[in-house]
Amino acid sequence: MTMYHKNKIFILGMAKSGYECAKLLADDNEILLTDSKEQDQNHKQELQDRNVNIIITDNPESLLDETYDVIIKNPGINMKHPVIQKALQLNIPVVNEMEVAYHYLPKNITIIGITGSNGKTTTTTLIYEILKKKNLKVHLGGNIGYPLSSIVKDINEGDILLLEISDHQLLNMHDFKTNISVLTNICPTHLDFHNSYEDYKKTKKKIFAHHNEKDLAILNEGDIESLNETKDILSNKRFFKGKDCYIKDDAIFVDEEKIIKLSDIKLKGNHNYENIMACLLVVKEFGLNRKEVYEILHEFGGVEHRLEFVKEENGVIYYNDSKSTNPVSTITALKSFESPILLILGGFERNQDFYDLKNHLEYVKHIYAIGETRDRIASFASDCKIACTKRETLSEAMKEIKKDATKGCIVLLSPASASWDQYDKFESRGEEFKRLI
Ligand code: ADP
Repeated sequence: MTMYHKNKIFILGMAKSGYECAKLLADDNEILLTDSKEQDQNHKQELQDRNVNIIITDNPESLLDETYDVIIKNPGINMKHPVIQKALQLNIPVVNEMEVAYHYLPKNITIIGITGSNGKTTTTTLIYEILKKKNLKVHLGGNIGYPLSSIVKDINEGDILLLEISDHQLLNMHDFKTNISVLTNICPTHLDFHNSYEDYKKTKKKIFAHHNEKDLAILNEGDIESLNETKDILSNKRFFKGKDCYIKDDAIFVDEEKIIKLSDIKLKGNHNYENIMACLLVVKEFGLNRKEVYEILHEFGGVEHRLEFVKEENGVIYYNDSKSTNPVSTITALKSFESPILLILGGFERNQDFYDLKNHLEYVKHIYAIGETRDRIASFASDCKIACTKRETLSEAMKEIKKDATKGCIVLLSPASASWDQYDKFESRGEEFKRLI
């Protein structure tokens, strides 16, 4: 595979991935790295000491010319950005960090790639936990927080590389190829980033790029969009929520073998059962051991902030779903329970429609309305004839909840709102919730 050697490289956007990618390439290439925001001084110094030229600027396009061999774009930056448009005009290839790092991997490793509109992190994390339990040499990276460039040097022949891959990352892949790809599902998200839903679906399909019948595609048979989009891929296909892995008699089966009862699984919700089924089809490729799977699924309370089981106290169970930043996520959470729910809703105002939740409130006994959107939520609750307590902050609401919660009920933080009215990110909101519990 071609590595980058004596190239003139433009890295657009520093963040974690640009920084790691610059470190990977610095010794052998001439690098200009630009960002619109000031960056961590230590990281900057470290790169500058290795001759990376770093420029903080709002118009990087003025720095790009035809002498560059390649531009490495941060996945969050839109293809319509003027510097990307200019690169395309100049016929300069636009790639991303994962595509670059791919060329530095040893031969004969097994690459597993996980993508989809929802459930990527949960599915990836579960696969990782189970493969580790089997004492396999497995490396975790990608969209999950560890850029591939940062782990590439630790990977040896024969190892397994497990990557969570977002659609933003797939967009600028060229040579990248997996051995096993999972597509959890496809629904319209991130459409602001793609030109159209058609484009978005085409991008997701790139997870199967360069596949032949020796490669494996793991697909959701219950998801028509995924099936339509993958009709003509060349991979060997295996189906969850379908013929190869399914739920029957309240248990999950893989290839007609009963693996685990749903009641023995700590994660809740049909959406999570889908994630688990996708995971089991991957694990099956490495030898599925029921005892190992049982131990993990019995213990695993979810990825932090995603319908995460926090604690049971005096018969009250607390779930942190701070990652829910829109009503669709909150509906998913509400569908996961069949006990009385005290629901904390609200946060940053961006005209989200709380009435989307209306048909999913069967178990909701009380709504606690917080944040900028609390007035709108209170009138929604009143229309739905559900008791509502309005407080500005999460901590004030939690004081009321401590008084109201009774044995057998669930306290659910699933705000259907971004956190930016009071927090820097949804993680901070979830962490505060856990502290208050
Ligand atoms: P991603 O990494 O794709 O954002 P996560 O595993 O982090 O997905 O889950 C984020 C949220 O998406 C969850 O809290 C839940 O609301 C929803 N979700 C997770 N898995 C699924 C699924 N298989 N189908 C639909 N929604 C899901």
